[in-house]
Amino acid sequence: TLSDRLSATFKSLRGKGRLSEADIDATAREIRIALLEADVALPVVRAFIKQVKERAGGAEVSQALNPAQQVIKIVNEELIGILGGETRRLRFAKQPPTVIMLAGLQGSGKTTLAGKLGRWLKSQGHTPLLVACDLQRPNAVNQLTVVAERAEVGVYAPEPGNGVGDPVKVAKDSVEHARAKQYDIVIVDTAGRLGIDQELMQQAADIRDAVSPDEILFVVDAMIGQDAVNTAEAFRDGVGFDGVVLSKLDGDARGGAALSVAHVTGRQIMFASNGEQLDDFDAFHPDRMASRILGMGDVLTLIEKAEQTFSRQEAEKMAAKLASAKGKDFTLDDFLAQMEQVRKMGSISKLLGMLPGMAQVRDQIQNVDEREVDRTAAIIKSMTPVERQDPTIINGSRRARIARGSGVEVGAVKNLVERFFEARKMMSKMAQGGMPGMPGLPGM
Ligand code: GDP
Ligand code: MG
Repeated sequence: TLSDRLSATFKSLRGKGRLSEADIDATAREIRIALLEADVALPVVRAFIKQVKERAGGAEVSQALNPAQQVIKIVNEELIGILGGETRRLRFAKQPPTVIMLAGLQGSGKTTLAGKLGRWLKSQGHTPLLVACDLQRPNAVNQLTVVAERAEVGVYAPEPGNGVGDPVKVAKDSVEHARAKQYDIVIVDTAGRLGIDQELMQQAADIRDAVSPDEILFVVDAMIGQDAVNTAEAFRDGVGFDGVVLSKLDGDARGGAALSVAHVTGRQIMFASNGEQLDDFDAFHPDRMASRILGMGDVLTLIEKAEQTFSRQEAEKMAAKLASAKGKDFTLDDFLAQMEQVRKMGSISKLLGMLPGMAQVRDQIQNVDEREVDRTAAIIKSMTPVERQDPTIINGSRRARIARGSGVEVGAVKNLVERFFEARKMMSKMAQGGMPGMPGLPGM
């Protein structure tokens, strides 16, 4: 009907709008408070909000979400992006032993982590050696020895009672020892101070130069909040590091330190330490941390649900159109919308492949030729609304006009319209056969 057609046009117009500045500002204020409450350092909050505003300003209005939800969704995605996107694996040396050096303030959890890493690597078939280079505190060597015994991995430590030894020499010798005794990974535990300290940095830098680690991991206590920025910068400049381990995540910290460290150093957070026991250790999950920092878990769940409901409603609408007599309610606009949908799904195609029975759908999605989708979209967009609703009226002169408008050969227009009729016939048969859920994927 006419009113249906009008509302369809209205909808596509709405889809082209941008989020308003007022909407973005209002939501950004809420986000700012949430980040500050999570103990993210102020300069990081500022830079982050700016980044989010820029992206939100260019975003098209969603039909599934209200503007606030949409901004929060963008915030969540940006957070996940900064926190690492997908996690990186440890780098192993071509020639064993791989040397992993731990750096960080005293009490940040380095020695505890050495045991956790050792145990985890052992469970993967490695033979790690823990090396005691913290000769500062009287009990440090003993602590590492106990940790190594518990983790059932090797330990290299200076004999107790020899007075203060030279940590650089211990580090160097430990690599030789590992080579001789067939340990394939050396984990160097270093000393820390309560505050940032030049002498300590120098010692860590000397150890680094002596053993050229394959990985330097900066261990940072999630509870230190705002101080994370200064500490991370000091270690970045004084020693340098390749990855970050966030410890004490079992505490009640909202995790602002994670965002601060990732933002100022650009280094990936690789592991999460969440307890005093050897097993309290996990790969770092950027998505979980983003939701912890935002403290809007409920909202995020709601957003996800709203989007799912919307796409289900859309799919049901499509199915109903296809179920009409010979699928004639299914128009070229719908065809285009479905194609865009499939394109969007490209990014989740990997995920789909992990679900049982979905591998075939994934292969279909991955076979979509991006340029083909663009070309088809260009042709359909060169048609008038009436032509899209009822492509049977597309005659020779209309075809020529559409071809000129979209910069393709006339034959391509003809081809597309024919393919559309084919696909519609096929999908409408499937829909009438009672296929549940999503209708078939056009354009393939
Ligand atoms: P280091 O000085 O950097 O070597 O830190 P330690 O490994 O000695 O840890 C300092 C204290 O924090 C110890 O009491 C540990 O048991 C504790 N600790 C380390 N990691 C964690 C963690 O992930 N969660 C909790 N709750 N405590 C931890
Ligand atoms: Mg220690």
